[in-house]
Amino acid sequence: MSDEERHEADDDFAAPERGSADELLDAGAHSELDAMRHSAAHVMAEAVMDLFPGTKLGIGPAIEDGFYYDFELPRALTPDDLAAIEARMARSVAADHPFVRHELPPAQGRAFFVERGQPYKVEILDDLAARSAAAGEPMPPTSTYEHGPFVDLCKGPHVASTGRIGPFKLLSVAGAYWRGDEKRPMLQRIYGTVWATEDELKAYLWRREEAKKRDHRRLGVQLDLYSFHDVSPGSAFWHPKGQRIWRTLETAMRELQEQGGYEEVSTPILVNHRVWEQSGHWDYYRDNMFILDIEGQAYSLKPMNCPESTYIYRARTRSYRDLPLRYAEYGRLHRNERSGVLHGLTRVRHFIQDDAHIYVRPDQLADEMRRLIEMVKVSYGWFGLEPHYVFATKPDGAIGDPALWARAEALIQSALDESGVRYTIKPRDGTFYAPKIDIYTDDALGREWQMATIQADLTMLPERFDLTYIDEHGQPQRPIAIHRAIYGSIERFIGVLIEHFGGALPLWISPVQAVVIPIADRHLPPAGELAALLRKRGLRVEVDDSDNRMQNKIRLAQEQKIPYMLILGDREAEARTATVRRRDAAKDEPQQTEPWAELADRLAAEVAARTF
Ligand SMILES: [Zn+2]
Ligand SMILES: [Zn+2]
Repeated sequence: MSDEERHEADDDFAAPERGSADELLDAGAHSELDAMRHSAAHVMAEAVMDLFPGTKLGIGPAIEDGFYYDFELPRALTPDDLAAIEARMARSVAADHPFVRHELPPAQGRAFFVERGQPYKVEILDDLAARSAAAGEPMPPTSTYEHGPFVDLCKGPHVASTGRIGPFKLLSVAGAYWRGDEKRPMLQRIYGTVWATEDELKAYLWRREEAKKRDHRRLGVQLDLYSFHDVSPGSAFWHPKGQRIWRTLETAMRELQEQGGYEEVSTPILVNHRVWEQSGHWDYYRDNMFILDIEGQAYSLKPMNCPESTYIYRARTRSYRDLPLRYAEYGRLHRNERSGVLHGLTRVRHFIQDDAHIYVRPDQLADEMRRLIEMVKVSYGWFGLEPHYVFATKPDGAIGDPALWARAEALIQSALDESGVRYTIKPRDGTFYAPKIDIYTDDALGREWQMATIQADLTMLPERFDLTYIDEHGQPQRPIAIHRAIYGSIERFIGVLIEHFGGALPLWISPVQAVVIPIADRHLPPAGELAALLRKRGLRVEVDDSDNRMQNKIRLAQEQKIPYMLILGDREAEARTATVRRRDAAKDEPQQTEPWAELADRLAAEVAARTF
């Protein structure tokens, strides 16, 4: 599915409310492939019921790439069980049972699931009954789907028969609370995948294995970049090499910002909650903030930089000539995510954004948006990432003047058009105070990540913090505040880069760009000289002065994904050259010997070019 289709699909199928009976009954089957995936979930439930009599059924929707079903079972499942369930499923597919829909009067439907000892299904039906009663509507009939020996409470849709289910594989078992509620029973969730063809299944399983190998949590340990500790969940401890990546990214972005007329500011991490009352976050976002009591007043660790930049804006009177004012801030942010959802660098409690707040006159909005799109193009080009843009327009319940919204949206769209970038429109998906452009990128495994965001804030900062500038007639006017982050969260950006490159980062951001490998101890002094020469050119260089043999040193450097290995023996030391071995060199690739000075020039130029 292309992104355009995915975004459109989101609009066609509004997600049911979380934890509602509607959500529990949503089979997730919004396409033919999804219908097949959901049908496979029924077949899996049939197999589990057969192998484990007395199983109580939760729900079994289609999900991205596959399906799951939640079961209450007499014991914990093992990998052997999955193989047995798969084999039992294959029999059901071979039998080609048709899927048949039945409708029962509500009372009969409820009795049907009570008799079969299925309390979770009964609970869903009772929820539906209570909702119908509250709305003064009659309870709809109970809809079931039957195939072979198995009947499930379900709205469908399904494929015509079990024989239509393509090649499948069961993947894993995980605990899942009933209705996602920690106070309810923990069920066992079996995940599976199913595809239309054997080739697609194979390709998917390859991507899944590859994703495991590239997992940034694993590579972070292997490459000694960062670690996580239970004394501060969701907050990375950056080791020296990880911090080098961090600083390199930050330096590159700072350079771009300086060329773009930005100034850097820094605002407090700890602020009185009055700031958030004024911005509106106290009402809507308080649960995501860390709140502290200080001398009887509620303070919070800032979850975003936005409102604090207005204090700098308002520190003096601003004239129309002062705008645009571009305040960049690498602010340290904290968001109170539940510990259960934290995930490496991509879902954290503590992070830093390459944030900026840009104050413009309305007539400057389109030009500034064009500059920002250009900035995204340039910076994503450093990594070979292809950005795609989603323009999200006015949501229901937006605040602010509708005429201003219409004008801002038209200006943003014209900026997108003039920039010549590929974009899609996601209607009514802007924030409540701003139309926005979200920037996504696909990684090497075809996974889509949301990265940057650009929001044209018409009201939240300008009105709630009463920002003005004096126009050419001496009258106060409202500026527009653009919120934007190009990398987004730098933690997340690094996590995505590590997975995209499988840890083999481009030379310019590699924490160690070259390792000098002396063949014997007598080559240590010239190795030190070469390293010093390269460091003088700004390169990050190490010398492997261990007593390992050369082949071991090369293997270790390859495991550390170091882009260049510079080997020094008698011949090289004598001639002040090095034999250069690239990280990704083929086994039989002839190795170049280069004089030190030329090598230093070449590597420094490669780093400066920021190629990937
Ligand atoms: Zn179904
Ligand atoms: Zn902001």
